[in-house]
Formats: sequence, C-alpha cells, structure tokens
Amino acid sequence: MTEAVAETFPEIREAVRRLCARFPGAYWQAKDRDRAYPAEFVQALTEGGFLSVLIPEEFGGSGLGLRAGAAVLEEIHRSGCNGGACHAQMYTMGTVLAHGSPEQKERYLPKIASGELRLQAFGVTEPGAGTDTTRITTFARRDGDHYVVSGQKLWISRAEHSDLMVLLCRTTPRDQATKPSDGMSVLLVDMREAVGNGLTIRPVRTMLNHATTELFFEDLRVPAENLVGEEGKGFRYILSGMNAERILIASECVGDAKFFIDRASAYARDRQVFGRPIGQNQGVQFPIARAYVQMTAAALMVDQAATLFEAGRPCGTEANMAKMVASEASWFAADMCVQTHGGFGFAEEYDIERKFRETRLYQVAPISTNLILSHVATHVLDMPKSF
Ligand SMILES: Cc1cc2nc3c(=O)[nH]c(=O)nc-3n(C[C@H](O)[C@H](O)[C@H](O)COP(=O)(O)OP(=O)(O)OC[C@H]3O[C@@H](n4cnc5c(N)ncnc54)[C@H](O)[C@@H]3O)c2cc1C
Repeated sequence: MTEAVAETFPEIREAVRRLCARFPGAYWQAKDRDRAYPAEFVQALTEGGFLSVLIPEEFGGSGLGLRAGAAVLEEIHRSGCNGGACHAQMYTMGTVLAHGSPEQKERYLPKIASGELRLQAFGVTEPGAGTDTTRITTFARRDGDHYVVSGQKLWISRAEHSDLMVLLCRTTPRDQATKPSDGMSVLLVDMREAVGNGLTIRPVRTMLNHATTELFFEDLRVPAENLVGEEGKGFRYILSGMNAERILIASECVGDAKFFIDRASAYARDRQVFGRPIGQNQGVQFPIARAYVQMTAAALMVDQAATLFEAGRPCGTEANMAKMVASEASWFAADMCVQTHGGFGFAEEYDIERKFRETRLYQVAPISTNLILSHVATHVLDMPKSF
C-alpha cells in the first residue's frame, strides 16, 4: 500500500515487522482456538525492548515518546498479530512514573523495563458501576500499615499474566466524599502474593482471545507503602493515564485497518469471477478505497493526539476523538474485508474473521463511543450535560 501519510519511525517499524513475521497466522489461530495466552510473542517483544519504549532511560527503558509506542503497536496489528496481549505493559507504568514516589519508581520501573516484572493489569471496571467509575465500591480500609481490600472487579485483562496490578478502589465512601470523583485511591497490588490470599481470579471467556477476568477481593492485605500518590486522589491519576491508553489503542486500530485494506486490495486484484478480477468492479473497489480514506484520517488524528501528549499539553479530547475515529475506521475496514473475501472471509485460515472479532472490541473498551460523543458534546460544544 502506498502511504498517504509518511510513516514515523521506519527503523522501529521494520524491526517490529521482522519480529511479527515469526508469529504467522497459524500461531494466532491456535492460540485463538484454545483461548491461550501468546506468551512466546510477548516474550519476543519484551526481549526486543519494544514494550519499554516509554520508560525513561534512567529507569532502563528507551525513553522514547508516545508516537514511538504508537508505531510499535500499529505495526504489530498491521502484521496480523495482536498487541492486546501485552499493550498495557507499555503504558500502565505511566501511573507509577507520573505519580509514584521516588522509592516506588526505583523499585519497580527498572524491572518493568527489563520484563522481570509484568505490570499489565489495570483494575478499574466493576459490574455494578459500568462506565460511571465514581460508583465503584471495591473498598480499601486502612488497618495499621496495610490496606484491607474487599470487592469485585470485572473485565480485568491479563490479570493471570501480571506480577503487579494498578488497582483503583474507594478509600472514602462516595456519599462521604467532598465530590464523587474524590475518595478513590490507587494501590499497586503484587499479584504473586495476592492470589490465594484474598484475591481470586476467574477467567471470562469472550468472543476474542483477550485473557480477561473477573476478580474477587476478600480482605486482601496490601502494604500501605503500595499506595500510589496521595490517598483519595486516585481518580485523577487514572484519568491522566487513560489518554495514553486511548491513543495507543487507536494506533492498534489504525494497524488493524491497514491489515484489512492490505488483505482486501490484494484479494480484489487476484480473485477472478465472471472472467475478471473482482477488484475491477467499482462495487468492490469503493469500499476498499473508503476504508483507506477513513484509516488515513484516523492516523492523522492519532498522530496529532500523540504529539500533544508528548508535548505535555492537554489532549483528553484529542485522545478520545482519535480512539473513536480509529475504532470506527478499523471496524468499517473489517466488515469491508469480510465482504470482499466472500465465503473465504469466514474461513479461520485467512485470519480475517479473527481480526474482525478482535477489532470490534475497541468501540467498547477502553471507553465506549457514546461516552466519547458525550465528552465532545459537553466539553467542546458546550451543550448541557446529560449525566
Ligand atoms: C474484552 C474486554 C477487556 C477489558 N479490559 C479491561 C481492563 O483490563 N480493565 C478495566 O478496568 N476494564 C476493562 N474492560 C472494561 C471496559 O473498559 C468497559 O467494558 C467499557 O468501558 C464499557 O463499560 P461497561 O461495559 O460497564 O458498559 P456500560 O457502562 O454498562 O454501558 C453499556 C452501554 O451503554 C452506553 N451508555 C452508558 N451510559 C450512557 C450514557 N449516559 N449515555 C449514552 N450511552 C451510555 C455505553 O456507551 C455502552 O454502549 C474490558 C472490557 C472488555 C469487554
């Protein structure tokens, strides 16, 4: 595909492409069939240093900005692989980096950079709260030099494949806090000690292979020194990390869209029906071209949001908009690609149906489209709030 927008970080992209070539469709098909974790792929990315690009050099990472992280994840997805297995290793540490104490940074970041510690579980969502995070009820009660955590979380991905988890819980009940977003705190939970000692993990099987889980906390004791930042201010720490997450996931969607466009245009050139390539019919060409236009617009929005993030400027709206347009572009491209392939779009060995299922997630997680539209309507367009 000729790129309408010059690609950033060509050397990094080439290195990621070479790595991904070692993990072809058959590898992902087998993992998908068994709902197994792609441990070998994650290990290869870790060894290649691709998951520590955002960690500053003083802590053992490569100290690159968010645009480099976006290039890595986009290439993974364009290659037909799935960064969802480990993308959080790249950005969850941002909460510790931005709000942790010097001791916490010293203790954790170098080991996260080397891959010795996996910090890729991010525990926010609860069954009873949904998108209204201020309604979470998982509670951390202070007891001497520990917090005692009770409650439940849902959709916590990679919890079984993480040594640490960034956990958001209430330390003041909602009705006693000065405002609903106050009174929540962030704890770093050591999963190796917690499982079986107050934390139970139950896998949730979903339509895609995402290693997501339900968590049950019953008087889990977490050392008070694992509190990140100040007690009660956790919600704003989590929000600041969400911009990075949205931009990086948007870059995965751009990669997915490119994967579908690559596959569809190649198939449309080759597949002969009625004595000519199907791609000679404008009814087949135009959806592929439309997908390309939408993907290119999304890529520009992702780059704009990442550039603002790197400059330390406010980028909440741009991160949201990038995630929305990119997830819609990848979904349109996925649907187009299935249609272009006719019956073969449904065949497991073509990888298209798998990628179709995988990319659908991103209109719901990490934030659903309606909530982004609500943000734009009320924060940008100054319309009245609906909730
Ligand atoms: C596979 C998977 C992995 C995930 N991984 C993680 C993870 O690692 N960590 C984590 O914390 N969470 C995770 N999530 C949770 C994810 O972030 C949420 O599912 C998502 O934010 C939507 O929240 P909800 O499912 O509670 O939907 P709800 O909040 O119940 O909303 C349901 C629907 O109603 C719409 N809606 C709700 N309120 C309004 C409103 N006021 N106006 C208009 N529309 C509205 C929403 O847009 C949505 O479409 C994951 C989810 C999935 C499916």
